[in-house]
Amino acid sequence: MKKPSLYGFTQEQLEAWLGERGHRKFHAMQVWESLYRKRVSSFPAMVEAGVKPEVARILEEAHAIGTLEEHTRQESVDGTVKFLFRLLDGNLIETVLMKHKFGLSVCVTTQVGCNIGCSFCASGLLAKSRDLTAGEIAEQIMRVQLFLDEAGAGQRVSHIVVMGIGEPFDNYTHLMNFLSIVQHPKGLAIGPRHITVSTSGLTAKIRDFADSDAQVNLAVSLHAPNNELRTRIMKINKALPIEKLLESIDYYLERTRRRITLEYILLADVNDRREEAQELADLIRSRPQLLKLANVNLIPYNPVDEHSQYQRSTLEAINGFYDTLKKNGVSASVRLEHGADIDAACGQLRSKQLRGDEDKEPVAAGV
Ligand code: SF4
Repeated sequence: MKKPSLYGFTQEQLEAWLGERGHRKFHAMQVWESLYRKRVSSFPAMVEAGVKPEVARILEEAHAIGTLEEHTRQESVDGTVKFLFRLLDGNLIETVLMKHKFGLSVCVTTQVGCNIGCSFCASGLLAKSRDLTAGEIAEQIMRVQLFLDEAGAGQRVSHIVVMGIGEPFDNYTHLMNFLSIVQHPKGLAIGPRHITVSTSGLTAKIRDFADSDAQVNLAVSLHAPNNELRTRIMKINKALPIEKLLESIDYYLERTRRRITLEYILLADVNDRREEAQELADLIRSRPQLLKLANVNLIPYNPVDEHSQYQRSTLEAINGFYDTLKKNGVSASVRLEHGADIDAACGQLRSKQLRGDEDKEPVAAGV
């Protein structure tokens, strides 16, 4: 039997699970600390770390500590490390570790495939076959942390971006449990301001997120200043056009008063001209709250074989777009590239692996 990951429990769920079996709250805390602080990787090690043998035994009967198997790892000269993990059901997912001046961040995957189908995205080529569980998302962080522990330099994952394969808000319950797991002060203790969730713009979930007590950062993929262009780039815009998206963002800003990131991928001669920059600036300036709280994150496109219709913007176009926003008083930044010498674009390593593996074994639905 394939057992689910222990990393899938929130602290409260673990307390309840052990409580139903006659064990007290402090036993749950001992298990929690052994997993996230002492980072044990076996049940005997859990007992050595101070967990009652009977508690470890019943946990082992129903759960595994680790469920991800490392399939491929690519390391970039700039310190970026890309992991391809195989899940228990054979599906492959990507996780990326990035080094920044401010710390180490991990980009996690939330679904196997994705149904949003953004036209520039290597991940969106394969329809979603299933959501990841909270345990499978949390374990990605743990696997990267264990990789850092093995390197022995005392480094820890300090930031998380939920921007890998999948639409996190299409897997909302598992996402929220994952956020609770990684933030717990007696565990990984990653602060909410160090976590960013990125959505393609599921408006109802943006509202739910605003109403939740998650204090984490939100990024919304805009990628175009008008509906015609956005629908060309992101087919989700047909169902959820810019007006609806901005209304949900207004609600979010009203409720939270937090800053928000608007992601804008720059595609050469598609959405990267000064006219589009001006249109975007006008759109943002028409909403005072948005102007005050939004930062536009410009993302120069990484060309992938699967989408030869898109090319990278020239440096001149990137600078021109940025300057136009700034001249209009719109906060903007250009995303630095990580792992340029490896399969850097989101989903690229997985997509390449799936093509290479096609004749070997079925590793993902639809392959
Ligand atoms: S960019 Fe994100 S939301 Fe869009 S298809 Fe790719 S994984 Fe899905």
